[in-house]
Amino acid sequence: MADPIFDLINDELTRQREGIELIASENFTSANVLKAMGTCLTNKYAEGYPGKRYYGGCEVVDKIENIAIDRLKEIFGASYANVQPHSGAQANAAIFLACLEAGDKILGFDLSHGGHLSHGSPVNFSGKVYRPFFYGVEKETGLIDMDKVEAIAKKEQPKLIVCGASAYARDWDYARFRAIADSVGAILLADIAHPAGLIAGKHLNDPMPYCHIVSSTTHKTLRGPRGGIIMMGENFDNPWGRTTKKGTIIKMSSILNSGVFPGMQGGPLEHVIAAKAIAFQEVLDPSFKVYGQQVIDNAQAMAKAFVAKGYDLISGGTDNHLMLIDLRSKNVTGKATEQALVKADITVNKNMVPFDDKSPFVTSGIRVGTAAITTRGFKEADCIKTVDWIDQIVTNIDNEEVQLSVKKEINAYMHNFPLYE
Ligand code: PLP
Repeated sequence: MADPIFDLINDELTRQREGIELIASENFTSANVLKAMGTCLTNKYAEGYPGKRYYGGCEVVDKIENIAIDRLKEIFGASYANVQPHSGAQANAAIFLACLEAGDKILGFDLSHGGHLSHGSPVNFSGKVYRPFFYGVEKETGLIDMDKVEAIAKKEQPKLIVCGASAYARDWDYARFRAIADSVGAILLADIAHPAGLIAGKHLNDPMPYCHIVSSTTHKTLRGPRGGIIMMGENFDNPWGRTTKKGTIIKMSSILNSGVFPGMQGGPLEHVIAAKAIAFQEVLDPSFKVYGQQVIDNAQAMAKAFVAKGYDLISGGTDNHLMLIDLRSKNVTGKATEQALVKADITVNKNMVPFDDKSPFVTSGIRVGTAAITTRGFKEADCIKTVDWIDQIVTNIDNEEVQLSVKKEINAYMHNFPLYE
């Protein structure tokens, strides 16, 4: 008898095919990326790094991992890359483990303003093991005030500064962050999990020349399998003068590699690393730059359409693939909106907005992203239509008839945008 899990996988495929996916951290990988993940590579243990493994039989996976590393370096112009982190949070954990001692101060973007858990939230390892301080956005503008970042850094003297977020719709001033980091002797980490694909396509500022270390996920705008990566533009000597027994200074590349394995993880997922390599090749194809531009054009078309309907966007718009919408002026919560939209097969996530007066379980906002719908083939007109549907649901928040009729329209509409056929 077939395992019912396969029926459930089919149910999920139907859900993905028939709905509009607006979760900013999601995307649809290519069929080849999916294919690589379902292969015999999952059977292989390969603790260590290519050429230096703790298991026999790694000749083939060594080649695959080296290809993944080379392609990733080429995309971002990096001199060092590690493709083993199982996820973005684990990439960050490995970096912190490599660079910090327990109790060291870190400075990151406030979670309630759009930051990520792994940048010092008290419920995460990063806020439990290290001493976190935060910068945020201004109430009036929704933007980060770099003078304030500098003032906090000067006051707190963190050992590591993180720039990057999960819900910030504007680009980052990496050069200024680096100047601040240098002024207090901190390591600067850019976590580009969200905009990585747009940075790869050169649509946004490049962190590589300015940030000591860059981490990312591979599954958001980069459109690969779920996973994490770590890179450096330039390899540098570790800033604490740590040496080998023979007195040689240890390079950051070795320290970071040790942070991932054996520091944070055991065996790498070579089937996922193969899928990362395939996704990286897709990113290197000129068509990916076209995709990235369309992601941004779609986000800007949506943002404009929301504003025209009286929605309050944090910072008033977007430079990237996402927007954060404060729904208080519409008298609905993020939670109620997320739930009502799901009934019409539109998926978003509820999200805290800066200076939110509601709990993270309720929230005053939603986060909306265009990476996944652009992969499905949406253009600006489809995005404007989507805003119309969202507005119908929000302005009739408890009306199940409206939800059902919008759902029917959407299910029919999505047949024009085939997925894994
Ligand atoms: N960093 C940022 C900025 C993120 O937005 C996310 C995920 O949303 C992560 C790290 C963590 O990635 P993962 O869920 O793969 O651990």
